[in-house]
Amino acid sequence: IKERYHWQTHNVKQSGVDDMVLLAKISEDAIVENLKKRFMDDYIFTYIGPVLISVNPFKQLPYFTDREIDLYQGAVMSSHPHPPLDLALGWTGPLQEGRKLPSLCSGESGAGKTVAAKYIMGYVSKVSGGGPKVQHVKDIILKSNPLLEAFGNAKTVRNNNSSRFGKYFEIQFSRGGEPDGGKISNFLLEKSRVVNQNPGERSFHIYYQLLEGASPEQQENLGITSPDYYYYLNQSAAYKVDDMNDRQEFQETLAAMDVVGVSGEEQTLVLQLVAGILHLGNISFRESGNYAVVESEDFLAFPAYLLGIDQDRLREKLTSRKMDSKWGGRSEVIDVTLNVEQASFTRDALAKALYARLFDYLVDAVNKAMQKDHEEYNIGVLDIYGFEIFQKNGFEQFCINFVNEKLQQIFIELTLKAEQEEYVQEGIRWSPIDYFNNKVVCDLIENKVNPPGVMSILDDVCATMHAKGEGADQTLLQKLQMVIGTHPHFNSWNKGFVVHHYAGKPTNDINSNLFPENLNAEKKGRPTTASSKIKKQANNLVDTLMKCTPHYIRCIKPNETKRPRDWEESRVKHQVEYLGLRENIRVRRAGYAYRRVFQKFLHRYAILTPETWPAWRGDERRGVVHLLNSVNMDPDQYQLGRSKVFIKAPESLFLLEEMRERR
Ligand code: ATP
Ligand code: MG
Repeated sequence: IKERYHWQTHNVKQSGVDDMVLLAKISEDAIVENLKKRFMDDYIFTYIGPVLISVNPFKQLPYFTDREIDLYQGAVMSSHPHPPLDLALGWTGPLQEGRKLPSLCSGESGAGKTVAAKYIMGYVSKVSGGGPKVQHVKDIILKSNPLLEAFGNAKTVRNNNSSRFGKYFEIQFSRGGEPDGGKISNFLLEKSRVVNQNPGERSFHIYYQLLEGASPEQQENLGITSPDYYYYLNQSAAYKVDDMNDRQEFQETLAAMDVVGVSGEEQTLVLQLVAGILHLGNISFRESGNYAVVESEDFLAFPAYLLGIDQDRLREKLTSRKMDSKWGGRSEVIDVTLNVEQASFTRDALAKALYARLFDYLVDAVNKAMQKDHEEYNIGVLDIYGFEIFQKNGFEQFCINFVNEKLQQIFIELTLKAEQEEYVQEGIRWSPIDYFNNKVVCDLIENKVNPPGVMSILDDVCATMHAKGEGADQTLLQKLQMVIGTHPHFNSWNKGFVVHHYAGKPTNDINSNLFPENLNAEKKGRPTTASSKIKKQANNLVDTLMKCTPHYIRCIKPNETKRPRDWEESRVKHQVEYLGLRENIRVRRAGYAYRRVFQKFLHRYAILTPETWPAWRGDERRGVVHLLNSVNMDPDQYQLGRSKVFIKAPESLFLLEEMRERR
């Protein structure tokens, strides 16, 4: 049976154990040791049953080259599964049962989630056949990556190509197994990056692509010069990324737009908007009397032209805001002039809003191009921004880390908790395993009441404050301290607060944009806050995923240097701990890979014995026993619960499937 796992055809020598269920001793050190052995021998994949652990090699390995895929396809034909791919895809088996099959890539920033997600999509496109329509959908699936990465990824200190948005990419299949449609759901783009970045970080790739790759004509039309000219790029003074060719990638981005059906004219508008936002950033203000005026009208004309806004309207928009005023029982809208700080804030809010719309527009374009009116089968890949701690963490880090916390919650619920609960319910012999359930941290953030969580408190403070700088910071901190100050996973002091996440403790600094930017917007009443939006998105995602049986790809980042063969023991150990790998192995060891209610099991394997074919008469439980006895299933391999049969190793099930095929 173990032979099935000798899938790494380019290297037949064994290194450590490939399924950590087989570890002699289960301790964090033993897990780290095993992963290290494999990492040093270029095995980046290791399993815990169906959970795939992937350690970022920081170098190109021949895992998913054409040759590997050919080998795999050959293997499929000779019925040798290829675990990482099967797993990532659920390619064999599960598609017949569930209609949706999600794969979740998790792990911290730079751990390899996006690369893993791309492998899956690339693989799907390569192995399946199909006519011109299918080929077109495949092209879109592949090309959507360079497109959305150009607009949604950026260099951070953690990762040169860090995803600054989350995405759930669903590929739809025809009954014949051909990809003939798809859909992307995107989550919270880190749009604050458009207006400033931490030292050493860049804005979204598209900016540098455009500056490097624009044709002379585009340079002239869009006012392109060197990057240090633009305020929105020169604050962090990082312009180049090692091993990244912005000029060449610009061409790829344009080609990708062609494929997804963004016309030449629309492309011009897209680039005009990108450039327009850059020039918007160069509008500065000075104090005149007590209010802000645009420093130089020259800087106003060009962005107004690029964005297609009348110059006077743009000026007005940036230096004043409309406000409802009640006067003697009458209500009227008046213009309030802004001070310099408020005007800059408004300019930035406009830039961020425009960019976010542009990003949504591109996602829509990709979706329209892949749209399908009905769904048969569906494979999804979730690739979000990983857990991250920066020196300064703002509202967006708070949201990103919250989404990661929710994802960990799904893993715990589905893999650890649900598993154990089911054994208890079915009366299966079983000794319970302790694990940290992070629900308490999710509640701390998203609870509405009893006590309200950080998001609710933030919403409250937003609703009562009109503009940034009216003491909102201190009010927020005081409120947090008062309401949840004693929570075991929370600390605050006069300059910020910390949430103790499962993966670490980022300090949210009050001076770094802790508030979502719509504080100063011209909205009436309670602002629709960014936090309520992300909370809703995260919970919708959780609901969708909880209804399926997700596959997990747990990515590990072996070092901070981004260099191959560099192994930082304590970093890996920390990740092994918080990913809960030890508990995962223990649950799995005692656990059963396959479970089915008696009736379904009998139905599927009825053909294996004369007594069960075409149907078993009598007690279903006895029918299952009869069936398992007649195929000589090892009694150690299964247990019967109250309503379900539990089978330990997937290999035992493969045997049943093979017998069934042969009949
Ligand atoms: P983030 O949360 O910041 O988006 P991520 O987990 O998506 O991070 P990736 O962008 O997938 O991280 O990986 C970071 C870099 O590590 C890649 O650009 C690539 O250089 C390298 N890398 C990751 N996985 C692999 C792999 N399987 N083989 C080779 N290199 C890899
Ligand atoms: Mg990524």
